[in-house]
Amino acid sequence: MSATAEVSRTEDYDVIVIGSGIGGLVTATQLAAKKAKVLVLESYLIPGGSAGYFEREGYRFDVGASMIFGFGEKGTTNLLTRALDAVGMSIETMVDPVQIHYHLPDGLELKVHRDYEKFLQELIAIFPHEEKGIRRFYGECWNIFNCLNSMELLSLEEIGYLMRVFFQHPLSCLGLVKYLPQNTGDIARRHIKDPKLLKFIDMECYCWSVMPASHTPAINAGMVFSDRHYGGINYPKGGVGQIAQKLATGLEKSGGEIQYKARVKEILLENGKAVGVKLVNGKEYYAKRIVSNATRWDTFEKLLSPDKMPAKEKRWQKRYQKSPSFLSLHLGVKAEVLPIGTECHHILLEEWNNMENPEGTIFVSIPTLLDPDLAPAGHHIIHTFTPSWIEDWQGLSPQAYQEKKEAAAEHLIHRLETIFPGLSAGLDYQEVGTPRTHRRFLGREDGTYGPIPSRKLAGLLGMPFNRTGIPQLYCVGDSTFPGQGLNAVAFSGFACGHRVAVDLGL
Ligand SMILES: Cc1cc2nc3c(=O)[nH]c(=O)nc-3n(C[C@H](O)[C@H](O)[C@H](O)COP(=O)(O)OP(=O)(O)OC[C@H]3O[C@@H](n4cnc5c(N)ncnc54)[C@H](O)[C@@H]3O)c2cc1C
Repeated sequence: MSATAEVSRTEDYDVIVIGSGIGGLVTATQLAAKKAKVLVLESYLIPGGSAGYFEREGYRFDVGASMIFGFGEKGTTNLLTRALDAVGMSIETMVDPVQIHYHLPDGLELKVHRDYEKFLQELIAIFPHEEKGIRRFYGECWNIFNCLNSMELLSLEEIGYLMRVFFQHPLSCLGLVKYLPQNTGDIARRHIKDPKLLKFIDMECYCWSVMPASHTPAINAGMVFSDRHYGGINYPKGGVGQIAQKLATGLEKSGGEIQYKARVKEILLENGKAVGVKLVNGKEYYAKRIVSNATRWDTFEKLLSPDKMPAKEKRWQKRYQKSPSFLSLHLGVKAEVLPIGTECHHILLEEWNNMENPEGTIFVSIPTLLDPDLAPAGHHIIHTFTPSWIEDWQGLSPQAYQEKKEAAAEHLIHRLETIFPGLSAGLDYQEVGTPRTHRRFLGREDGTYGPIPSRKLAGLLGMPFNRTGIPQLYCVGDSTFPGQGLNAVAFSGFACGHRVAVDLGL
């Protein structure tokens, strides 16, 4: 049956969610908590997508995310805590006292402490002539955060909600409207002149948005640069995979269903409206609403026929492009490799000009410093990754692919020796993932980390919400407002769940 063929059917569910990434699971649990009949279809063996895990030889590795926002105890931006709570679940977390230890060019060594004033003092000690600018720049980020953190975060596409929050928090709403079209670089340049400090701000953005400050929306920077000192970075006991596992359990306890090894091949349309899905095994399911947690490229080019792509979507594809994927190394190492006092997350860059280049910036997470149970006694996990394009890994024979992987891993380890001397000698386990691995296991077109602006845009204004150009079809996750990161896709999940619930009259 073609994607556009007429179908005769009865609805089995209120909502079908394609994919169990954090965006999909938050949507599903929000709706199940409102008594909707929900089915989640996941192609992989376990839930979580980029926030999943895998186990090898006594190590439990996070697939992607390890620096976790959204587990705070106060305010409204602690969306992971709230999402779990909505279905009666919770997770024990470990406090991470330092968000990132930066190792940057020109000997710029700096830690972003959870304690805001301690972080500022460390930065001001390096740039004393910019004290005022530093305080004003990060102060503006707090203004954005305080607006967000004063209101319930739901669907900006729902007029009833917008009116309610406007009457409850008029100043916060006006504050957000002011910052919505702005980028972080514009704010930084209003307050800061020192070129090296501006480069540091670029890196502060790049390490989560994969864009320099000039292209990073101010709303996202307000969240990241403030929440790390407010709710803080907190690591879930048992690894990041626990978040999805608990959401899936909460979903089932609330009456929802989740099926694994259930790859959706096609979204079924009737009179131009989304009414169901067809799996690769030929099974069909129908629902009043369909939510796709696959990327927009996968949704509109693979699950639907590209020639039926709505005009709105074509315009979006002109504004946004796929970010690179990653070359990832999952290492098990002897504990003595890590000097005493090593922090959990590191960024390494040797030359500023390389920040945005493939294999330029290196990201490192060592979650066993917070939860030692993820590795055998006397060992640690080092997950290190660096941007990489799929084009560089295609058209290779199996042997050439293997050799290229090994060479890339060796080069990365060699560079990391500057911060962890003796790393290669202390290796106990090594697994290399390429953009092809990300594409295969995460079901993401080209293994992309997510959408990035193809030119300078007006802040977050161009990022789509959850409704799509196809009636009854919604998108959720990192290719919807407000973008990448677990807390961001949880925001998208709350918004999507809310919008669908209103449309279903729940
Ligand atoms: C290496 C790396 C490091 C990262 N580090 C951090 C970090 O430290 N902190 C942070 O907050 N974020 C981090 N992120 C980003 C974060 O992990 C993602 O933004 C987020 O997890 C994306 O969630 P999602 O719900 O949008 O989709 P995904 O995680 O992509 O999940 C989508 C799910 O849908 C399933 N699916 C897709 N197509 C189909 C289909 N046709 N049928 C059925 N199922 C389907 C997939 O199998 C997958 O399970 C990192 C990402 C990577 C790759």
